Amino acid sequence: MKKVKITDTTLRDAHQSLLATRMRTRDMLPIVEKMDQAGFFSMEIWGGATFDTCIRFLNEDPWERLREIKNRLKNTQAQMLLRGQNLVGYKHYPDDVVEKFVVKAAENGVDIFRIFDALNDVRNMEFAIKVAKRKGAHVQGAICYTISPVHTIEKYVELAKQLVELNCDSLCIKDMAGMISPHDAYEIVKALKKEVNIPVDLHSHCTSGMAPASYYAACNAGVDILDTAFSLFAWGTSQPPVESIVAALKGTPHDTGLDLELLTEIAEYFKDLRKKYASLLDPISERVDTNVIRYQIPGGMISNLISQLKEQNALDKYEEVLKEVPRVRAELGYAPLVTPTSQIIGIQAVLNVLMGERYKVVPREVKDYVKGFYGRPPGPISDEIRKKIIGDEKLITRRPADLIEPQLERMEKEAKQLGLVKKEEDILTYALFPQVAVKFLKGEIKEEPLVELKEKTAPTALPTIPTEFKVEVNGDIYDVKIIQVGQSAVKEIKRAEEVKPKNLEGGVISAMQGTVLKLKVKTGDFVKTGDIIAVLEAMKMQNDVRAPASVVVKEILVNEGQSVSQGDTLMVIK
Ligand code: MN
Repeated sequence: MKKVKITDTTLRDAHQSLLATRMRTRDMLPIVEKMDQAGFFSMEIWGGATFDTCIRFLNEDPWERLREIKNRLKNTQAQMLLRGQNLVGYKHYPDDVVEKFVVKAAENGVDIFRIFDALNDVRNMEFAIKVAKRKGAHVQGAICYTISPVHTIEKYVELAKQLVELNCDSLCIKDMAGMISPHDAYEIVKALKKEVNIPVDLHSHCTSGMAPASYYAACNAGVDILDTAFSLFAWGTSQPPVESIVAALKGTPHDTGLDLELLTEIAEYFKDLRKKYASLLDPISERVDTNVIRYQIPGGMISNLISQLKEQNALDKYEEVLKEVPRVRAELGYAPLVTPTSQIIGIQAVLNVLMGERYKVVPREVKDYVKGFYGRPPGPISDEIRKKIIGDEKLITRRPADLIEPQLERMEKEAKQLGLVKKEEDILTYALFPQVAVKFLKGEIKEEPLVELKEKTAPTALPTIPTEFKVEVNGDIYDVKIIQVGQSAVKEIKRAEEVKPKNLEGGVISAMQGTVLKLKVKTGDFVKTGDIIAVLEAMKMQNDVRAPASVVVKEILVNEGQSVSQGDTLMVIK
């Protein structure tokens, strides 16, 4: 009788999905040894957003978390989620950083690396896979599941075969948005089991409400591993509950063999934890998300769209934007809607609706995506759309990471000069998140307090946008306050574009509220009409500020890193 194995995600994906990744190591450790007795195939305990959250909000060393948990696991394999060339960050890192990170993760206790790429571009996965294999780890090659005309069973099988070719030990169907239907789960697992002979794992979320049914369908198609979480941290945007899945399969040919009594004992521990973290639980993330069913737009992306529209005072355009998203997604080659592509497609849809003209304003990230810097889009992008977005600029055809210079040596030198390095891993923490790492490694991060439930708190899935910041520029700390603008900032972009240079009276003003990311000029520089003179970050995307005429830069009034309001003068030109 074939047993279905279980991967427990409680200590990684479950709290990432429900609690904004805020579970503390000290709340995990007391139960790890008991969880280790449960007979799980693996426990996913590291990677994804946990690394970033540890140093940014919890004042915890992620490497220490890994070692402490690993020390308590005698029977169960420790698993991490690795975002391919993005590791545990949000951009491509050079190969030397990837290599060192994977090596150190393995040496600190990761037994199984689940490796994926948002675009299912194997070129973004293969280097990490090779290093993990070289370290003797189990590599689970993950296939991002999404729904589109170009995401066919044949394509998934083709990708699976490439992953087998790279010596992956198992495969994962990664349904990060919780959209897979029982029928699709059955068909895909069936096809994979027929075409490849390594174990297949199904990873889903309860977002659409279909996951438990899809798990059962996957069992009937011969799935080997299912991802679940303890019931107190299951359902909603998290995984299906382990107790229910174990009970449902009991006595069937797919029996997990796990002991429900022991699982119930472990679940008791999580009862108190759930109370402790109740203020972080957003009721919305516990409900079935009808938007996932209607538009195949994942919940996290919806909350982003809402906050962007709110920021621009344009919530009335919500339905229009929801309809624009699938259109942009199709035009941009049907990328799966997962970080970072969900932001890329979402922001373009918002801009297309708000500007009243499609692709009139295109953020840097969208251009980079179209050029191929994130990898190969799954489907074609028409010449017409491509021209609108990047004009005649060239596409890159190489593996994106080939274009990134090695950084490790420089990062190591910098980190040492800053006095941050107490152990080798600190170099990696710095290489991955230089800004936060400096504060964290200097001991300047304070653990974010857990709010008592009685106090009213903002739901975490819809973060309120902070308006006051401390910004550090070259070692100086500035207090910065963002002032609410009355009008839609995008309308302001239009207005600013219409303003003739002579009307500026020598001042280049900010068309929207945001942060000055880069200044491309210095005082005295001569710039031509249309040259990029600064880069503003607004709505989490980069927008170029261009010279309104051929001029000389007379004075620069802002610093990089400074927050600006709409209408602020950035520089004076002549
Ligand atoms: Mn997930």
